[in-house]
Amino acid sequence: MPRIDGARLMADLAALRAFGRCGTGVDRTALSAEDIAARRWLAGRMAEAGLEPRMDCQGTVLGRGAAARALLIGSHTDTVPKGGWLDGALGVVCGLEVARTLGAGIDIISFQDEEGTFLPCLGSRAFIGDMTLAEIEAARARDGRTLSDALAAAGLHGTPLRAEPGRYRGFLELHIEQGPVLEETGHDVGIVTGIVGYRRWRIHAKGRADHAGTTPMALRRDAGATLLRFAADAATQLLAAGGGTETVWNIGWISFSPGASNVVPASAELVLEFRDLDALVLARIEAWLCRRLAADTSLAGEEITHFAPTPMDPALMAALERAAAKNGARHLRMPSGAGHDAMILARAMPTAMLFVPSIGGRSHDPAEDTAEANIVCGCQVLCDAAEALIGD
Ligand SMILES: [Zn+2]
Repeated sequence: MPRIDGARLMADLAALRAFGRCGTGVDRTALSAEDIAARRWLAGRMAEAGLEPRMDCQGTVLGRGAAARALLIGSHTDTVPKGGWLDGALGVVCGLEVARTLGAGIDIISFQDEEGTFLPCLGSRAFIGDMTLAEIEAARARDGRTLSDALAAAGLHGTPLRAEPGRYRGFLELHIEQGPVLEETGHDVGIVTGIVGYRRWRIHAKGRADHAGTTPMALRRDAGATLLRFAADAATQLLAAGGGTETVWNIGWISFSPGASNVVPASAELVLEFRDLDALVLARIEAWLCRRLAADTSLAGEEITHFAPTPMDPALMAALERAAAKNGARHLRMPSGAGHDAMILARAMPTAMLFVPSIGGRSHDPAEDTAEANIVCGCQVLCDAAEALIGD
């Protein structure tokens, strides 16, 4: 069975890390000078590997192989501000190593702006044709720069790359886990079962502002207390009411108005989010939420975000699992709690993801790292799965 070249893989990862390097981390936000330089470097490495490279008008880079049908492998080379060196980069460089090892039948891609400096998953959404001109024209970075200006400043022209109809057998994305599960449980690779869906609800409580020293407790209409009772019920009842073993929930924002320590809150708001791979689980939690809101007339709420779960393709997952077993890699089936380009590609073609362990679960931070042995093992598993899939 073809063996990847671990030293060549690590050398390319180190070379890519030099673009935007800051300490142990990397600052290479979408369309920055460092991002574009890294993408040009990548196109050069693709050409040396015998692929035909093309950078599109948004900076997405595709290395097209010679075969009429191909397996697409890749991820993204943009980062969050002051991010880690492996998030995205690992999947692109491992794809390149697989293409060099296997020859024809593999296309490599680095999608633009997965991290959402301007528009999350810009490149992958454009690639499958799920992106409107109006969205591109409206997109802005947090500092106010428009996407259109940033594209012009980067000197990018033409039309976005689109997946050639009928060309792709599927899409594989190798990625760091960005959490602690594989390390804590002693696994070498994670076979991603799907990308979790999530829902966010804004919950409001209504009351009346009063003097917090002179108004007897029994006579208050305290919106803060009402909302905190709701939050306490969520903490104790939400999972029991329908959560699965992998359900996660969070209250990450809460606000009292007028917001003074000597005023009884007149109104209060929080945002509750919950995530799971199973849409039925999300629906059961939502049913609990609606019952709880109906039980208290001073509470109201509405859904503000709704993302459906994205299951991965069973045949591609099985190929990854067989490749892991062949390499003696301890593997774990697990959901992805974070979004990835794979979640977009799954709308257009069979898609699967492979995780490698993150040291200490750290990510989106310069501390992000993965042991070299885990990187090489993950790339070999990816290579063996790809070999089986292009030989089918
Ligand atoms: Zn990523």
